[in-house]
Amino acid sequence: MTIGCERQPPAARAHNLVLITIDTLRADHVGAYGYARSQASAVDEVAAAGVVFEHAYAAAPITLPSHATLLTGRYPPGHGSRDNGMRVNAAVPTIATELKAHGFRTAAFVAAFPLDHQFGLERGFDVYGDRLPRTPDGQLANERPAAGVVNDAIAWLETLNPQSAIRNQSAIRNQSAIRNQSAIRNPQSAFFLWVHVFEPHAPYGDGSDRRPVLERYDGEIGTANRELQRLLRALDAWSSDTLVVVAGDHGEAFGEHGEFAHSIFVYDTTLRVPLVMRGPAVRARSTIAAAVTLADVAPTALRLLGFAMRDVDGVDLAPLLAGGALASREIYAESFAPLVEFGWAPLRAIRSGAWKLIAAPKPELFDVNADAAEANNLAADQREVVQRLDSRANRYSAPDISPSAAPPDVAERLRALGYTAGNPQSQSAIRNPQSAMERPDPKDRREMAARIAQITSGELTGEALVTALEGLVRDDPRNAQAHLRLGIARLQAGDCARAEPELHAAAAAGLPSADLYLGLATCLGRRNDLAAAERALGEARRLEPDNPAVLANIGILRAAQGNQGAAIESLMAALARDPDLHEARFNLALAYARAGRRADAAAAARDLLSRLPASAPQRAEVERLLRALQ
Ligand SMILES: [Zn+2]
Repeated sequence: MTIGCERQPPAARAHNLVLITIDTLRADHVGAYGYARSQASAVDEVAAAGVVFEHAYAAAPITLPSHATLLTGRYPPGHGSRDNGMRVNAAVPTIATELKAHGFRTAAFVAAFPLDHQFGLERGFDVYGDRLPRTPDGQLANERPAAGVVNDAIAWLETLNPQSAIRNQSAIRNQSAIRNQSAIRNPQSAFFLWVHVFEPHAPYGDGSDRRPVLERYDGEIGTANRELQRLLRALDAWSSDTLVVVAGDHGEAFGEHGEFAHSIFVYDTTLRVPLVMRGPAVRARSTIAAAVTLADVAPTALRLLGFAMRDVDGVDLAPLLAGGALASREIYAESFAPLVEFGWAPLRAIRSGAWKLIAAPKPELFDVNADAAEANNLAADQREVVQRLDSRANRYSAPDISPSAAPPDVAERLRALGYTAGNPQSQSAIRNPQSAMERPDPKDRREMAARIAQITSGELTGEALVTALEGLVRDDPRNAQAHLRLGIARLQAGDCARAEPELHAAAAAGLPSADLYLGLATCLGRRNDLAAAERALGEARRLEPDNPAVLANIGILRAAQGNQGAAIESLMAALARDPDLHEARFNLALAYARAGRRADAAAAARDLLSRLPASAPQRAEVERLLRALQ
């Protein structure tokens, strides 16, 4: 039977949906999965009232592609986000677009830059809370604390019709009321809330914390958990008819298989995630042993709300929830960050029964029932199984991304990688699967990947970070990202003389990064080479025309060139996109003053003072400007 998009009338049906994602949370660090020192009591609480999927797997070991799979029900080839920074295809339906179309109120509150609205998961949400704070030196922070995310989520819940909260509270007291009301409920009052917290992601706590890394990791889980407990209490009013899904987006490696953090390899270290659900039609205290994928969440959640999600890779898990079984199937996962970030071969994984194949230049085959640690590669002894599963992997995705099919920014990244690999045939190399598989196998770059992870994790800072980057650039001179990071680190240390050659090396490799050209423009501006700074900013604007930092720097350059009108225009455009860009506001006040608009200058300066924290060191300079204007 084909299931239409109209509401089905099952006996027990969820009215609202809450999706909680906890970034980088390993299943085996959760009490419901047997961890004795669990600090994830919020997950355990949902698990105790519902179902635990013991063997749940992400479709990609990295934040944006994995969340895109959760929200679309499709594997990465189907939603188009193969790596962080690669936008989700705007034509693909998500839980939010579907429920919005059914009249739900929808809101998301996310905690980290990979989920910024520009990457395409904001579609369908009435509210998409993704504002990140800026550091004192004006850099956009990569994440925000769970406390702020949960505050925003609770504030949004309070804007929902208070009648519905009261109605649900009485429903909790009188279970028969739920059944009576379900037939007459106004779909306008239903809601979908997605809350994402980021604490368990590296760096684990602050740099001064000298505890062992796993203790710090658990501590971060505990920090996120305290806030999620607050969220669960706020949701108590709706608990009788709300489906709550809690999931990790990927795991985290602490040296298993020579890996640290996540994003490169597709071992279960980083693919296995916690997945628990509670709500109507979900039996309390049940566990499901069958392997499931996060691609199953969207079709399952939609079904439990009375709808259907079409054209998905995942399946509706309702038969499992009802105590039955699913038809046997295979589960796919992939990692294309090795290709997109480093020009290495991508990894694709197929799990089928007891077998798991990792398709790579050197394939790996594991009997995951007998060898959960994936320690014994059986590929050499089981060539037929390898061949069969490899052809299955190819049905989900070729081992490449065609630049012609990729969005322009990604195509540019890919071309840049071909160049850095020193391959004059770079474009055809990316198009041709054979050549793609001739790229380095990430397993053979384990040690390099571990060093890169150490750098990107944020666990290293200051001199230690610069030293690690210098080593990486020495050993891997074609690594354009390493040149860029070293250039930025030296720039932040005030050393433009040694930053510029690194930034030029990254630019020569064709790395399409606005940060690169902003860094160059900063150094060029400091030595008053305004013509070269102008060219660098032009390149930054071509790459990211809406980036407020780019607009602010263009404004500062225009002011230095004496064109206060153009400076004011560009600085205002920057502030419209990010009102917390304090340096832009200070320069706006200066530009007004130079243009003779003293009242506007004083207003901008006073506005800035009202936004700066009482302890901000910039206050003195702003106050001096205000006095000079009087
Ligand atoms: Zn993540």
